This record gives sequence, structure tokens and C-alpha cells, in this order.
Amino acid sequence: MDKIRMTTPLVEMDGDEMTRIIWQMIKDELLCPYIDLKTEYYDLGLKYRDETDDQVTIDSANAIKKYGVGVKCATITPNAARVTEYNLKQMWKSPNGTIRAILDGTVFRAPIIVKGIDAYVPHWKKPITIARHAYGDIYKATEMKIDRPGKAELVFTDADGNETRELIHDFKAPGIIQGVHNLDASIEGFARSCFNFALDTKQDLWFASKDTISKKYDHNFKDIFADLYEKEYKAKFEALGITYFYTLIDDVVARVIKSEGGFIWACKNYDGDVMSDLLATAFGSLGMMTSVLVSPDGKYEYEAAHGTVQRHYYKYLDGQPTSTNSVATIFAWTGALKKRGELDGIAELSAFAEKLEKATIATIEGGTMTGDLALISKLPNVNKVNTLEFIQAIRAELEKLR
Ligand code: NAP
Ligand code: MG
Repeated sequence: MDKIRMTTPLVEMDGDEMTRIIWQMIKDELLCPYIDLKTEYYDLGLKYRDETDDQVTIDSANAIKKYGVGVKCATITPNAARVTEYNLKQMWKSPNGTIRAILDGTVFRAPIIVKGIDAYVPHWKKPITIARHAYGDIYKATEMKIDRPGKAELVFTDADGNETRELIHDFKAPGIIQGVHNLDASIEGFARSCFNFALDTKQDLWFASKDTISKKYDHNFKDIFADLYEKEYKAKFEALGITYFYTLIDDVVARVIKSEGGFIWACKNYDGDVMSDLLATAFGSLGMMTSVLVSPDGKYEYEAAHGTVQRHYYKYLDGQPTSTNSVATIFAWTGALKKRGELDGIAELSAFAEKLEKATIATIEGGTMTGDLALISKLPNVNKVNTLEFIQAIRAELEKLR
């Protein structure tokens, strides 16, 4: 059979540790035998980031801007221990942070659902996708401890020196204060990414904040979403039969629990931080959570939500068998290939990606799975396999579908 041809390269960003091992296995076993894989390769492994003074990370993000679609392996964000371990020139920044700053995107995280790995909420039948705003609020806050009586005020000084003041609190006793901000442009970019992603995946969009209490700050989020929706997206949503829906954050958590899934939940920065861990756990396993960064101008970067699985990597280096779940990394590839196929009009490429997803799910539903899933599976005959065996089992399943 002829291999599927590609016209535009995918931006391929290699990474670290166990996920780097898996990356190569996926290419060797599941992609290269079937696709004439065309990628522009960037090695984001920590060693090469250090060698290039992290320029490779910047170059890879710019390549996504140029070509539109990238796929990224998990990478180490160095801490002090890594500086020693890899003898680094400096403690390089998080590659994801660098890429996000260049693309100005929103991260969407969704679980992959398979029969036999049940969500803790039994009536969740479809994935719930979290969209987290990645700028501002408490992540860019200034804080003070107040240890004596006095007045705390919010002061804004404009370029001409005019001051606007609001009393925060007249302290009679010790306490604390915090100053947070956000930017209309960032909120609008976030809203735009959410609306575009909803159209792209044909799912309803929910957004919530606390505008009843925060009548200026949170209300501004609500207004920016509402205005943009009316002006640019309402007609498109109606044409697809999907809805945009705003409510209060406490109302939305109740609705999420009662729902059957199948929508996008847009969250302010802090809400998204908390709720994405809640959902990942409630749906089963980190190894089954996908992640895609979408920029306001429609560039896509696909990856797994988990890290480099360091503990498994040390076992691997030690020659011991590992059973690392490659599903989220496989779905990063299929997401990117589907998008590339869609943008370039290569139906075969998108269809292949769909088949690979089906084969992956069928493998698990047939009982063959990695250790993390074997622990929580409700299936009667679980066959726990090692890292490579799992990928080979998916290949066997894929051959049946071709
Ligand atoms: P991690 O790699 O996500 O792994 C944490 C634990 O979760 C693992 O030890 C493993 O548990 C389980 N796990 C995660 N993914 C799994 C998979 N695919 N299959 C099976 N088990 C899985 O997080 P970490 O150990 O905190 O971080 C390791 C490195 O990853 C760090 O250097 C961090 O900077 C980096 N990181 C990168 C990204 C990214 O690039 N997007 C995201 C997060 C972290 P058991 O050990 O119990 O089996
Ligand atoms: Mg967090």
C-alpha cells in the first residue's frame, strides 16, 4: 500500500525522558509505516535547549506561526536539581510558557474516554474540555501584609499624573491585601480562542465568573465575551446549532456535575488551574488527558497533558520493564495530523488519524493496557503490557482497520 503523502510540514517538537522514548516508538510503529511523514524537526530536549541558549524553543514557536500546526513531546521544566543533573548554563524557562507567550494562546484540555475506564461521575458520557485563560489575575499579583493600623487604597496614576483612588480598607488591626490585573486584549484573545475552538469541535461553550460580586473585574470578562459573541460569533454558532452560555461560577460547577459532558468549559486563570486537575482525576488518568494550545489567530499546538514521566524513565535506563501510557501522546499526533489534513485538504491523512484513534481505544477496550489503566479498569480480562507491547498491540489493531 502507498504511504499517505503530506504537502505542508508539521512542526515536530521532540522532548525529554520517557516521553522522548515513546515519541520515537510512536513514529516507528504507528506513523512512518503508513505516512510519508513530513515534519520540520525541533529538538526541545533539555540538552539541546541548553546548547542553543533556548533559541530552539523560540524557533519552534515561530515555525508554528508559519505553518499553523505543531505537535510537542513533554519537556523538562528545569529546577535546581535539573540544573545539576544536566549541567545547565542556567535554569531555562518552561518551554510551554515560552511557546504560549509567542503564540498568545489558550490551552484546551480534554480526557480521552474509553469503556472500562469509568469516570467517577457515572453519567459523564462525553468529554468535558477545560479552556484556561493563561494570563493575569492572581498569577501576576502584588501582595502586602499589613501589620499596623492604616488605610489601604487602590491608586491609578495616568500618563498625565492624574490620580484615581478607591479605598480598599481602613485597617485597625493586621491583615493582608492583594492587587491583581488583567488586560482587555488578553481577555478578548482568550474569548476568541474559545469561540473558535467551539466552532471547530462543534461543542457548546460555557463560561462562568463571579460578576455579581466582582462588578467591574469579573463583569469585564463577561462583557468582553458577550460583545464579541454578538458581533462576530452568534450567527456562526446558530448555523452549527451550538450555544454560548454564561453563568456564575458556583452555578456552573453544579451544572457540570449534573451534565453528561460534551462541552467546553472556559475558566478564568485560577478556576482553570483548579478545575483541570479536578477533571483529569475525575475522568481517570493523566495518561488519558490531551492538551492543545490554540492561538487567537488559529494556530494549533498539540501535546499530552502529562509530563516526561521521570520515574519510569529511570527504570527504563536501569533496564527494567516499564508500562508507560502513550495514549495522550498518540492523540497529540492524531490531533495534529487531522488538523494538517483538514487545512491542506488531504482527507486520507485525517481519516488515517481517526483510524489510529479508533485502534488505540479498541486496544484498551479489548483489555490490553498499560499499568496505570490496569489499576483502575473495570474490564474482566485485563492484559497489562509494557510500553512497547502496548504500542505494538495498537499497530495490530490498526492493521485490522485498514
Ligand atoms: P509527570 O511526568 O506527569 O508524572 C507524574 C506521575 O504521574 C508519574 O510518575 C506517573 O505515576 C504518572 N503518569 C504521568 N503520565 C503518565 C503516563 N503517560 N503513563 C503512566 N503514568 C503516568 O509529572 P512529574 O513527574 O511531576 O514531572 C516530570 C517532568 O515533566 C518534570 O521535569 C516537569 O517539568 C515535566 N512536565 C512537563 C510538562 C509538559 O511538557 N507539558 C507537563 C508537566 C510536567 P507513577 O510514577 O505512580 O507511575
Ligand atoms: Mg495546577
